[in-house]
Amino acid sequence: MQYTYDVDTPNFECPDKLPVKDVQFYVHPSSMAVTHDYSCPVCREEHAVVNGSTGVMGPCWGCRAAGWQIKRIDRRSWWKQFFNIGAPYASK
Ligand SMILES: [Zn+2]
Repeated sequence: MQYTYDVDTPNFECPDKLPVKDVQFYVHPSSMAVTHDYSCPVCREEHAVVNGSTGVMGPCWGCRAAGWQIKRIDRRSWWKQFFNIGAPYASK
């Protein structure tokens, strides 16, 4: 669940920095079962879906069916992408 606080209320003080929440993440030794308490980044009502290769939490299955997904954007210019210069990540 995500809690949003209204900053227009009187005497409201916006905190400068909030601590990062820990996520409870359990992996079965066989790696065939995973459970966690991380909510879907889109709807915040269902559990997120974990990418087993990268460990990145993505939208729940319902949000994925609605078209939501996580994408990595390559912000290099077209010619740097063409010659693969300055790749921000290891190319496969
Ligand atoms: Zn969702």
